[in-house]
Amino acid sequence: MPPAGIRPNIRGEFPGLAGNWAYLDTAATAQKPQAVIDAIARCYGVDYATVHRGVYERSATMTLRFEEARAKVARFIGAASPDEIVFVRGATEGINLVAQSWGQRLQPGDRILISALEHHSNIVPWQMLRDRTGAHLDVAPLTDDGRIDEDALIAMIGPRTRMVAIAHVSNVLGGVADVRRIADAAHAMGALVMVDGCQAGPRIVLDMAALGADFYVLSGHKLYGPTGIGVLWGRAELLESMPPWQGGGAMIETVSFERTTYAPPPGRFEAGTPHIEGVIGLGAAIDYIEAIGVAAIHAHETALLHEARRQIGQLNSVRMLGPESSAGILSFVMEGVHPHDIGTILDEAGVAVRAGHHCAQPLMQVLGVPATARASFGVYNDMDDVSRLVRGLERVTRIFGVK
Ligand code: PMP
Repeated sequence: MPPAGIRPNIRGEFPGLAGNWAYLDTAATAQKPQAVIDAIARCYGVDYATVHRGVYERSATMTLRFEEARAKVARFIGAASPDEIVFVRGATEGINLVAQSWGQRLQPGDRILISALEHHSNIVPWQMLRDRTGAHLDVAPLTDDGRIDEDALIAMIGPRTRMVAIAHVSNVLGGVADVRRIADAAHAMGALVMVDGCQAGPRIVLDMAALGADFYVLSGHKLYGPTGIGVLWGRAELLESMPPWQGGGAMIETVSFERTTYAPPPGRFEAGTPHIEGVIGLGAAIDYIEAIGVAAIHAHETALLHEARRQIGQLNSVRMLGPESSAGILSFVMEGVHPHDIGTILDEAGVAVRAGHHCAQPLMQVLGVPATARASFGVYNDMDDVSRLVRGLERVTRIFGVK
């Protein structure tokens, strides 16, 4: 069935949106549709049993559901096979897994290349790897409008560059990277590409084959699914070449006191009882998103963003950051008013935005600001939320006496 687009009463499908508030913090975490909450409740309730181990029927059924969710994720992102989908706690854990497992092959003098707009999750694991191995960490600059400067980044890929790790969509400025272009350039130099897809997953139609990257990470809670679950996608041959990073049950083939052999991926990277209800909840979230269509969500958020930019553009005191064509995310600052004050006054008006460094302190330095206020849109927002944001900002200007 083709995706149905956004239903007029969609807001009512999200219990977290009850009450009179404008939730503009979806880039931090998305509200959950009732369908996802119901799937989790069923999983913990009448369907509950462990997976992969039980010989009894309930457990076998649960295992089927669990593996169906893996296949669903694979389809959703255009992976070649469900075996390329590793369940992790979130994007953060996915990046740490790659840095710790794949990273074991790095030698002193090897180089890792990131960009200046990365989230701390796509900086710190690489710094830790640098410090363990003697590799170097290079940082590509940004364009004037706050996108990754792809020409500069590509020029920085050298013969010792082993990994290029970049955000598909910036969580602060919303710019969208041309992953295919970067991947082609990296591969031509023998480097791999890891993409932080946290903000892209809910906004951009994903197709791993077309993107051409080697690793891609997602967080379930940004995809309208549960917290505590995320996805690492890796090319099958790469995952097969990587050692496990955590030991325990479920990741083994055979164990004796002398020696252990490991399961093939993805099991090799999933030690211990998995987050069963997280995986099944994520599967339900993907069903929910696919019924609407990611392209429809993207178009909807883009329309809201353009209108927000247009209206905020009329407030002289507000400076918007980031490219015009950002994906659902808008950061801004106001002369003489700290973003926390903006956030607090907006909250009094029932408008929830994020204020702070957004886990991107180095980016704040590049932008020359201590923090920003950020409005981010989701499938459930509408033009009324935009108006409330703008009216709230007008109130901030009145309270602080700025024009
Ligand atoms: N990368 C980006 C771009 C993000 O926006 C976030 C979440 N704010 C993360 C990584 C980390 O995701 P999580 O905390 O869900 O692991």
